[in-house]
Amino acid sequence: MVKAIVGANWGDEGKGKITDMLAEESDVVIRFQGGANAGHTIINEYGRFALHILPSGSFYPHVTNIIGNGVALDIQRLVNELKDITAQGVPAPNLIVSERAQLLMPYHILQDAYEEERLGGKAFGSTKSGIAPFYSDKYAKTGIQVCDLFDEERLRQRLDAAVERKNVMFQYLYHKPTLNADELFDQLMEYRELVRPYVGDAVTFVHQALREGKSILLEGQLGSMKDPDLGIFPMTTSSHTLAGFGCVGACVPPTSIEDVIAVTKAYSSCVGAKTEPFVSELLGDAGDELRRRGGDKGEFGATTGRPRRVGWFDAVATKYGCMVQGATQVALTCLDVLSYLDEIPVVTGYEIDGQVTTTFPVPGVLERAKPVFTVLPGWKCDIRGITDYDALPENAKKYVDFLESQIDAPITMVSTGPKRHEMTFRQAK
Ligand code: GDP
Repeated sequence: MVKAIVGANWGDEGKGKITDMLAEESDVVIRFQGGANAGHTIINEYGRFALHILPSGSFYPHVTNIIGNGVALDIQRLVNELKDITAQGVPAPNLIVSERAQLLMPYHILQDAYEEERLGGKAFGSTKSGIAPFYSDKYAKTGIQVCDLFDEERLRQRLDAAVERKNVMFQYLYHKPTLNADELFDQLMEYRELVRPYVGDAVTFVHQALREGKSILLEGQLGSMKDPDLGIFPMTTSSHTLAGFGCVGACVPPTSIEDVIAVTKAYSSCVGAKTEPFVSELLGDAGDELRRRGGDKGEFGATTGRPRRVGWFDAVATKYGCMVQGATQVALTCLDVLSYLDEIPVVTGYEIDGQVTTTFPVPGVLERAKPVFTVLPGWKCDIRGITDYDALPENAKKYVDFLESQIDAPITMVSTGPKRHEMTFRQAK
């Protein structure tokens, strides 16, 4: 049976913690989209880790971790991450890199940076990890698959064709140095040896695991708002962040996904360009305070270190985010962060052109949305680390009940701290 753990919002909802917790009882954990452009923070007995490309099951010797065909594979980043975690005492993870995954090439990273530079003030706020050029090339059919590394003639042809196109762009659009196909080929030969021990037929492995009744976790990156079809386009990422895409990016049958756990924080945070509409945003000193208190070390990007924009819980966006994920249950994280507040506003509607709606609008209209708040009383005591839901203060439980009533999806897990077992389980109403 397959469970997907995905983000209901803008990413950074705390999926890494939930995946790490559930991986304890799983056999296989699969990354199915995205690349090393976002990070999952995991705090466990080995220390604090920000995983970017490795699946979050990497800390358990009994888990097979898979980098699925839908992922943008940056081999150098993968190898560095493996070195980093083993240097901190984590046993080398069981890892399969799908032979069908495509390579995030050094020129994708260059192109990403050149394009942001060209756009200047109109830039997308890219992490410059090459993700948009990578997926553009994949769908333009000029990408290179991991399996091509083991077929030198095919690789050379594909590389020459890609470099020819890139050089026109680099020379005439960006006015930058051109690429040398021979050097790139040699680099790929080095990458081949680095990745060789992990490359495998993930598709057959996954289907065999399903036949054997194994439990599989799909680990999403970013969240609903960043999906190129259903998110806030074009302030999105370039791969699908929805559980449904797991069927493609991890190659599991659509009928096998029985459980979709949408993760959402008890407040909002959003990374990326300042120009992205973020209706529930909290600015000024109050915003700085929430950012400082948020997450386990403040709301700063796990990959980029950039300060995240923060805001109140947005029930309109989260209801939509859970709907498009097909959430069967919701994990609410970071409830402990709000313990300092006397009152906690929640966005329960958007006012657009004088009308209040609870339906999440298309991106152009979203820019005109103003938040409509419902204010709830705070609980004003430390709840960090509580593991019994009933032991939470009444106002904290009322806050959770209220959020659940607004998002049309059952909240079954409420997280009270960043560590693996700082978690309460709740009977949905
Ligand atoms: P992901 O990309 O969805 O895995 O999320 P990130 O790891 O980027 O961001 C979530 C942040 O919140 C990390 O710093 C986590 O350690 C932290 N975190 C997760 N759950 C909780 C929680 O319940 N309470 C607190 N205080 N921090 C949490």
